Amino acid sequence: MGMVYLTGAGPGDMELLTLKALRVVKEADVIIYDRLANPDILKEAKNGCEFVYVGKEDGKHTLPQDQINETIYQNALKYRVVVRLKGGDPFVFGRGGEEAAYLHKHNISFEIIPGITSAISAPAYAGIPVTHRGVAVSFRVVTGHEAPDKESSQIPWENFKTDDTIVFLMGLHNLDKITQKLIEIGKAPTYPCAVISKGTTPQQQVVIGTLETIVERAQGVATPALIVVGKVVELRKQLQWFYS
Ligand code: SAH
Repeated sequence: MGMVYLTGAGPGDMELLTLKALRVVKEADVIIYDRLANPDILKEAKNGCEFVYVGKEDGKHTLPQDQINETIYQNALKYRVVVRLKGGDPFVFGRGGEEAAYLHKHNISFEIIPGITSAISAPAYAGIPVTHRGVAVSFRVVTGHEAPDKESSQIPWENFKTDDTIVFLMGLHNLDKITQKLIEIGKAPTYPCAVISKGTTPQQQVVIGTLETIVERAQGVATPALIVVGKVVELRKQLQWFYS
């Protein structure tokens, strides 16, 4: 039976892959990868390594999660070194926990290799620090997949009144509802907001606006994209360094 490495591929820039991730990619007998993992990483695999694509787009699954779990398990029965390569960090909205739990249930050994999450690195490449002395003392990473008006929503919107930075992943299609909701709970319509598309890659696009203007400004922006809400967005004026 094999060892499964639940591996973070980083946010896009290939050089943001960890040394540990690169080592297991080079050793892999099979790599099971997502849409968000930079495909150039696969070129590092040894000859004869098998590739299995189980990519999914926001909300749309090429393979349902239970089938992905089963695919990983079946490959672990067949191969010695199995790499499950996921965009960013496997435990930040990556369902890595579910995959690990499935392996645990089936007595398959696994290791977790954390990756650099887009939630922090895409803002960093946009010149936006998620915390900054005197501006934001904490940050939250929140799913934007869930519409804010959904009755069963577990998102604690009322807690978002502070100036802590909020990063929404998977939220581009709900951008209008998210910004409306934040105004509804009391944030100023002029509160700073950014949308970052394809962060850390040569195609990175950064749109800056306010809760009021961002929807219009970010029209047509490509996925993957995340939303940053917070006064830290204004620091980009001084901290922009990456020009794509
Ligand atoms: N595990 C991943 C997140 C998976 S959820 C991580 O840690 O980064 C997928 C969401 O991540 C996308 O909808 C988007 O909001 C965000 N995302 C991933 N890569 C991105 C990138 N390069 N630029 C901007 N957003 C990205």
